[in-house]
Amino acid sequence: AKERGRNNGQFFSENLNERIKKKLQVEHGLHKALENNEFRLVYQPQFELSTGQMIGAEALLRWEHPKQGVISPVDFIPVAEETGLIIPIGEWVINEACRQHRYWQDKGYNGLLVAVNISARQLLDETFTATIERAIHENGLYPENLELEITESTMHNIEESLPVLNRLKEMGVSISIDDFGTGYSSLAYLMHLPINTLKIDKMFIQDTGRSPKSDAIVKTIINMGNNLGFNVIAEGIEEASQVEYLEKLGCQQGQGYFFSRPVEAGELEAIMITKVPQ
Ligand code: C2E
Ligand code: CA
Ligand code: CA
Ligand code: CA
Repeated sequence: AKERGRNNGQFFSENLNERIKKKLQVEHGLHKALENNEFRLVYQPQFELSTGQMIGAEALLRWEHPKQGVISPVDFIPVAEETGLIIPIGEWVINEACRQHRYWQDKGYNGLLVAVNISARQLLDETFTATIERAIHENGLYPENLELEITESTMHNIEESLPVLNRLKEMGVSISIDDFGTGYSSLAYLMHLPINTLKIDKMFIQDTGRSPKSDAIVKTIINMGNNLGFNVIAEGIEEASQVEYLEKLGCQQGQGYFFSRPVEAGELEAIMITKVPQ
């Protein structure tokens, strides 16, 4: 037993060493990625469910590693958050999404929304509102066309987040609660935070029609969102039956593989040509 214990201990510390090594590698790689311009954004279009018209797009980050190929954000955002690199990376995302939006605006797509994911750590950084303000100003955007997606975990820091969110609201920027229903369960913040949109997490959407509990949750979120005057959008829509179901329940907007995977900016433009009302 003693022998096994020691082996286990050794195994654990080797594992820990491996993890630390991996994290350091990712951190080093992220520094280089910023320097060498290895990040890019893909865009997933969002639609009005009743008409099928495209209303906007969510910007999603990709890391094109020179040796490892495309790395998913789920594999590097956590390291970026832990190391603080999410601040310069997030700033790049904001600037790039706004630059791209300006390009579309110049092509005549005036009312499109561009949604950007924001980490809690970014929101609480003292430079954040200035970064947003500058990106809007420099690109000549309508602030209401920029939507910031924050997750419920941000609400753990409600005392710190509230003034920032109120400042953003004053600026006219839209705020969306991402992954709604999976996070911090206090509903009280819905009363106090300047929120425009609830985004129902794909976990619930993918179970619709298969799990009575998921159905009940989706129904409840839609009703609550509508009653509170929020936009309600569903993510992770993969099937026509889900569109039908969501629409029936009063959810107006959605995104997901059923409509389109996240695509390059150029490919999105091809979708815009047929799906954005002119
Ligand atoms: P998220 O914000 O919840 O984004 C939705 C994720 O679901 C995206 O994964 C998207 O590609 C995927 N998705 C979209 N439609 C469907 C569908 O119909 N079915 C399924 N199964 N999945 C679908 P992705 O692009 O890998 O992003 C993962 C997460 O990484 C995002 O989750 C977000 O939390 C984070 N992330 C991405 N870009 C950024 C960024 O610029 N900044 C920050 N802070 N986080 C980001
Ligand atoms: Ca999101
Ligand atoms: Ca989400
Ligand atoms: Ca998510």
